Amino acid sequence: MNYDIIIAGGGVIGGMVARELSKYNLSVCILEKQNDVAMGASKANSGIIHGGYDPEPNTLKAKMNSRGVELLYKAAKELNVPFKQNGSMICAFGKAEESEVHNLYNRGIENNIKEMRIISGDEARKIEPALSDEVSLVLYVPTAGIICPYKLTIAAIGNAMDNGVELIRNFEICNIKKNDSGFIITSTNGQEVSAKYLINCAGCHGDKVAKLAGDGEFEIIPRAGEYLLLDKAEGSTVSHTIFQVPSANGKGILVTPTADGNLLTGPTAAVVESADNNEITPEGIKTVIDLAKRSVPEIQFSKVITSFAGVRSSEKNGDFIIEASKKVEGLVNVAAIDSPGLTSCVAIAEYVTEILKNMGVTLNAKENWVGNRADTEAFNHMTDDEKDAFIKQNPAYGKIVCRCESITEGEIRAAVRQNPKALDMDGVKRRTRSGMGRCQGGFCSPYVMRIIAEENGIKMEDVTKKGGASKMVVGRM
Ligand SMILES: Cc1cc2nc3c(=O)[nH]c(=O)nc-3n(C[C@H](O)[C@H](O)[C@H](O)COP(=O)(O)OP(=O)(O)OC[C@H]3O[C@@H](n4cnc5c(N)ncnc54)[C@H](O)[C@@H]3O)c2cc1C
Repeated sequence: MNYDIIIAGGGVIGGMVARELSKYNLSVCILEKQNDVAMGASKANSGIIHGGYDPEPNTLKAKMNSRGVELLYKAAKELNVPFKQNGSMICAFGKAEESEVHNLYNRGIENNIKEMRIISGDEARKIEPALSDEVSLVLYVPTAGIICPYKLTIAAIGNAMDNGVELIRNFEICNIKKNDSGFIITSTNGQEVSAKYLINCAGCHGDKVAKLAGDGEFEIIPRAGEYLLLDKAEGSTVSHTIFQVPSANGKGILVTPTADGNLLTGPTAAVVESADNNEITPEGIKTVIDLAKRSVPEIQFSKVITSFAGVRSSEKNGDFIIEASKKVEGLVNVAAIDSPGLTSCVAIAEYVTEILKNMGVTLNAKENWVGNRADTEAFNHMTDDEKDAFIKQNPAYGKIVCRCESITEGEIRAAVRQNPKALDMDGVKRRTRSGMGRCQGGFCSPYVMRIIAEENGIKMEDVTKKGGASKMVVGRM
């Protein structure tokens, strides 16, 4: 199949670029090596819409972050993705750290960030009572927020697909040939596609994809971050996102409610050998607990329901790489998109489109582009009377499958049918939250397996956790 533009990688960056390009009369295809989208850094991060005070002024990070915040809030509304503008607090513990709060404030001013203010520890504790008594000074950033990162990615790609973009899963790019008309791209399982332009959004593997295309100008340094996620009962421990002043290793350990109502603590920051390393280590867990308690001493770590890790794709110069390749005509690298990449995703997509325009891509707007996506949580938001009426029309919504999160069969069937369809257990989990509660799927898994099997016309034995060989059961007895 031949396309105008191929996007390598179905993370939040590839997804938002696809959504932006779906506004124009172009044939666009996303190639994703996994069985689903949002399987890289875009599924395992803090989910913070960063205020923009942190990046070095005049860098791409600073520009994309400050422009990105407003654009992301707008896109989240259009795509019906859970988010909240809850504001963040960056805390100094004693005199030695207070100068860093002033530095961040000044940097924020240079980055054109509005509404920030410096407040005393006591003032901060009035609006965030669980904050440690040791907090002496705080940078308060009311424009910051929280968002569900994988739902954003799924929604961006789903909306792009509704507007004509194609998605090919299980397409691990292993070979790229360049000729006068563009790129011929081959996957490890022998599929082949071609396109005039290639946008490299392959996250931690961005350097490898660039090399395959003939560009070896940068190297990704993978940095892992480990987290502990607490039960929803702890979700109101704090209402703001609580940071400590950043160090050379990044933004430090945070404590935050999530957009779905849990409490999240982490991440650590450790350079790892493999970009696919998502190990949880005893040292990582200890660091998260010790440092999170420094900010919020009363966190109930006995209420942890799961742990996870994500890998940042960093580069030695510390900035995002978003540019037309200097070596390979038609290639655009969107690489080293570590934090604040999630916050910046819509701004990055806009910027990439501008680069393509400058490369000669004709951008004719589609007349029938639809930027909105159906609210996949609409049932959840109904009143009991509305639910009653809805269930009469759609009886599957009357059957609770996931007891912890109260997710119905109707919601799961809808997730399996809607673009991009959920094909495996983790795909259903990320779209509906079924299996994300206290029991972590202990009760609902067999029911979800049956629905996936029925909807896709496959045997239950062939249902996987996350594609490939990750089968849930070995056979029938
Ligand atoms: C621990 C951590 C915390 C973070 N916290 C925040 C935060 O709070 N706020 C914020 O703004 N940002 C945050 N970030 C950054 C943010 O998560 C990233 O910037 C963003 O997710 C990057 O998206 P991406 O699409 O570039 O990469 P990914 O989501 O990793 O997507 C890349 C995709 O490419 C695919 N791929 C790779 N190689 C190939 C191949 N050969 N063929 C086909 N497909 C391929 C992968 O499978 C993957 O799906 C954090 C990141 C981490 C890791």
